[in-house]
Amino acid sequence: MQVTDHIHLLKIPFRLSAGPGITVERFVNCFLIYGSEICLVDAGVAGAEEAVFSYLHRTGRKPDEIGALVLTHAHPDHLGAATTIQEATGCTVIAHLAERAWIEDVDLQARERPVPDFHTLVAGSVAVDRFVEGGDTVHIDGGLDLAVLHTPGHSPGSISLHLPADGALITGDAVPLPRDLPVYDDAAASVRSIRSLMEVPDVTHLLASWDDPRSGGEVSQTLADGLLVIRRFHEAVLRAGAGEETCRRVIEDLGLPAFVLPVVVRTCRAHLAVGDSADIICENSR
Ligand SMILES: [Zn+2]
Repeated sequence: MQVTDHIHLLKIPFRLSAGPGITVERFVNCFLIYGSEICLVDAGVAGAEEAVFSYLHRTGRKPDEIGALVLTHAHPDHLGAATTIQEATGCTVIAHLAERAWIEDVDLQARERPVPDFHTLVAGSVAVDRFVEGGDTVHIDGGLDLAVLHTPGHSPGSISLHLPADGALITGDAVPLPRDLPVYDDAAASVRSIRSLMEVPDVTHLLASWDDPRSGGEVSQTLADGLLVIRRFHEAVLRAGAGEETCRRVIEDLGLPAFVLPVVVRTCRAHLAVGDSADIICENSR
């Protein structure tokens, strides 16, 4: 559906296994920006090219008019059909340098971030033709300029895209939603990124990957809600994860001496703050 003067939203449904016999229905939004050429923001899961191409035909456009595919980040629901779409259209693939390894080597991503059904969701690796960072511009033929904002936290190279001509801000997965699972590698960076999105002037449409389009007063509310989600989750983790009782359970599970010292509580807390370094700790113990 058309959501602003130049932007069309395409909702791509998919399924995830969440344990034996449990399937979760999800969706991801891709965005098509119509200039004299077309810029596609995010590729959806493997097979999404069918929905993208048929939408283009229905709206009087053609797949080979896609000049650029911008990936907000490397995760499977954004990258899945990228290789197929690139092969079919010859488009330029654009992403932040910090996402390169996982975009260009999906087996590496599957090992380092083993999302269920990874290889069903992702058709394959794709080469990035152009790297962008915050402050860069993606020109779309037809006089449209897309400003790149670096909004890390959800992933190191997550980017958001601002189309001033439409008052539109495309945020990928940078803003966590109330009532959904918060997903980010770096909570503090997520907070800083959301605050930077709040500084973007004259945004009338907020377009995220996992949310319905937000407009008018909903824009600032949705960004504020994202900050609140992170704060609440942080407080809950600290309450549940670093408390003495949780620590006692951890100690029992590991068969360690059955008493809890404040320094051991601190150790639990240190583990909670490990974030991306968890892999390093596990590897060292092998
Ligand atoms: Zn993501």
